[in-house]
Amino acid sequence: MPELPEVETITRSLRPSLIGRTIVDVHNDWPRHIAQPDFPEFRQRIISLNFKSITRRGKYIVFHLSGDETLIIHLKMSGQLSIAKAGETADKHVHTVFGLSDGHELWFQDTRKFGRVYLVTDPDDVLGSLGPEPLSDAFTSEWLFEQLISRNRVLKPLLLDQSFIAGIGNIYADEALFHARLHPQRRSNSLSLPEVHVLHTAIRQVLEMGIDRGGASIDAAYRKPDGTMGQMQNSFLVYGRAGERCTRCEGIVHKMQLGGRGTHFCFGCQI
Ligand SMILES: [Zn+2]
Repeated sequence: MPELPEVETITRSLRPSLIGRTIVDVHNDWPRHIAQPDFPEFRQRIISLNFKSITRRGKYIVFHLSGDETLIIHLKMSGQLSIAKAGETADKHVHTVFGLSDGHELWFQDTRKFGRVYLVTDPDDVLGSLGPEPLSDAFTSEWLFEQLISRNRVLKPLLLDQSFIAGIGNIYADEALFHARLHPQRRSNSLSLPEVHVLHTAIRQVLEMGIDRGGASIDAAYRKPDGTMGQMQNSFLVYGRAGERCTRCEGIVHKMQLGGRGTHFCFGCQI
């Protein structure tokens, strides 16, 4: 699933193609893509609106439109957004198409069909329960320490909880915990303040590295809107490296299931 760095990469690369353009048409052949409102109302409300700005919140792409409307897209497992020329033949997995005033189209391709599209007047209807952005000023190590010690949760699943911190997924949680030398099964309230300082720095470092490298293309599910691959997968130290020697100690990278997610870590240096 695209995580914060992948969604940020997509958000940045869509801006030049969309801002200032007007939506002139919408097609959809998978009604469940449109989570809110139903498609007839969605179509009627969105046509003739203009893209004002595009931001990211957690793993959501937020398109601020004219008329105080907000289009919000979650790519979930396999969603991809791309810009095409009108009239180009779309892949069969393109389920929602926005026609644009400049003769292009915004395609939402989604092989596994878990992606969701919302049109709302109040973005909090969709985004209101998200925790803070880990790259924002609100995310301080003091805040993180207070939140961790006030909970008795297993560390890695807590980092994946979008109502706790928005945008971290399986890959960046594993990488951040490795950088911080923390075992993914630590209890949140067992961390010391110095450990939390290191974790806070590690979370930001891996996310910023992910953005710098254009996200991680570990399979066909994530490509940048121009069709090229991200490069963060080449910088993974534990994710996808089970059985390999640790880059920091003489240990071996292990993989286990934790909270239903494949979790990669080193027995030797993550405590
Ligand atoms: Zn190690």
